Amino acid sequence: MGNRRFSGKVCRSIPVLLACVIIVCLLLDHYGKGKSASRSVFAMDTYMELMAYGTDSEEALDRAVVEIQRIDGLLSTGIAESEVSRLNAEKEGALSEDLRYLLERSMEINEMSGGAFDITIYPVMKAWGFAGGEFRVPGDEELSKLLAYVDMSSLKYSQESGRLEMPRQAELDFGGIGKGYTAQRIAEVFAEYDIGGAMLNLGGNVQIYGSKPDGSEWKIAVKSPDGALPYLGILSFEGLSGGAGGSRAVVTSGGYERYFEKDGEIYHHIIDPRTGKPSDSGLVSVTVACGDGTLADGLSTAIFVMGYDKAVELWRGHKGEFELILFDDQGKLYVTEGLEGSFVSEIEYEIIY
Ligand code: ADP
Ligand code: MG
Repeated sequence: MGNRRFSGKVCRSIPVLLACVIIVCLLLDHYGKGKSASRSVFAMDTYMELMAYGTDSEEALDRAVVEIQRIDGLLSTGIAESEVSRLNAEKEGALSEDLRYLLERSMEINEMSGGAFDITIYPVMKAWGFAGGEFRVPGDEELSKLLAYVDMSSLKYSQESGRLEMPRQAELDFGGIGKGYTAQRIAEVFAEYDIGGAMLNLGGNVQIYGSKPDGSEWKIAVKSPDGALPYLGILSFEGLSGGAGGSRAVVTSGGYERYFEKDGEIYHHIIDPRTGKPSDSGLVSVTVACGDGTLADGLSTAIFVMGYDKAVELWRGHKGEFELILFDDQGKLYVTEGLEGSFVSEIEYEIIY
């Protein structure tokens, strides 16, 4: 009897217990979703800020930091054992998956930009002291000799085997595309974790992922090359659907990022492959917004070199693939049609259609 009464009590308690468990689970889930984590990292010569919301935010960011270090270990010309340093020394080799992808994308951007983007720029970067060493202004004769090795079409690459052979004097530099690729890779890695949203800033390469827990818009300040203004404007984006496809990149290239001054002249780190000198296209800041972080980074460097007219022509030929914010040396600001309504600035700007 007593046993029956006891088991009857248990039976009646089960739904109550289940309800309690469900409430606790819902609370835990709610608490988990409200969790956020952040990391500051110095890698690839820049300060990086990472921030994520969601149950797995800590684990996801730990994994992101590992990914940054892994890619830095492949691309860094400052690390003697990196894959790029080995290629630059040995002039041939079978490329890793990452390098194959980056080389193929670089070739595509080289073609799109009519040669303005060229990863064989490295010998020239070294001559200016931008790749370690002392800053200096190389003479015209020295530059014209080095420019003979700056030409991506001299690379012999097999897409089937992934083997690369390059001329004896050629050297590669993925500095114009590496951070955007890293940000994109991290967004892909995030899809393996339970996170609702994340924002990465890898030294001017911003990548947003998913949405913010409170449902508000992502806001990205576009850096200003002009000390008088804190930023050129603010870009706002609605939350994205999350998962591997739910990310967007906003990448800015400017001559004010890395430069040195000599005899009153400013020399910056984005080089025009036609002259071997810091690009003087009239554009002082180029921002590319795009779903593809690698393309956004490569294009921001390329368009900085190409200048306004060619930039607009390129954009018109690829409408819907990327959007631009251009700022020129006359203080004029231009924004492509696709960002109309997402960009707010204190400076009046012209919309490019
Ligand atoms: P940052 O690295 O400051 O974010 P960018 O993405 O514009 O800026 O990349 C600049 C880097 O790209 C340089 O430091 C150099 O490594 C490389 N680079 C410079 N000029 C070119 C060029 N014309 N084509 C490809 N890469 C370039
Ligand atoms: Mg770039």
